[in-house]
Amino acid sequence: MATRVGISLGSNLGNRLSHLGAARDMLRDLMPEDALYLQAPVYQSEPCDCPPHSPDFYNSVIEIGYAGRPHDLLEHTQGIEFHCGRGAVHELNAPRVIDVDILYFGSETLDGGILTIPHPRLTHRLFVLQPLADIRPQFILPGDDATISEHLQHLDSGEPPLTLIQSNW
Ligand code: ADP
Ligand code: MG
Repeated sequence: MATRVGISLGSNLGNRLSHLGAARDMLRDLMPEDALYLQAPVYQSEPCDCPPHSPDFYNSVIEIGYAGRPHDLLEHTQGIEFHCGRGAVHELNAPRVIDVDILYFGSETLDGGILTIPHPRLTHRLFVLQPLADIRPQFILPGDDATISEHLQHLDSGEPPLTLIQSNW
């Protein structure tokens, strides 16, 4: 049985939409054949906690079915980042062709080491919560008691609203 896994995608360098699409296609290739796939629209967000003059981000969230373990998936997501042209060493929050983060992995919780699940900043970021709420509004993260849609309603991050870029991509 495949685990339901939420993944966020972000890009703020080069052809952002095509980077998101390339990463998405590689993640879909990891899915068992009959697994359900969910995909949010692409939004544009202003960079937060980034160096001055960083370009705007394109962001989205997908949910896949995945049959392996969390650390196997992290190896894949890092391979996808590398394949899309993101170097292994980079300045914190510097512009990047692609960022692939594991948001949740079924009911698993992992803390520390190279992998923290659910993603620690998930519920604090509009550019993750809004696309996630588009595909899984009623989802409750493991160890939590509020739905994604409730987190979104109560979010007070001061981020400007997102711009919808493309629903189908
Ligand atoms: P960020 O995504 O916070 O902007 P990076 O993409 O550079 O930063 O990730 C830094 C490290 O975060 C990765 O090397 C990875 O080991 C670690 N990490 C911890 N938890 C996760 C997660 N849930 N998904 C992806 N990476 C994670
Ligand atoms: Mg990352």
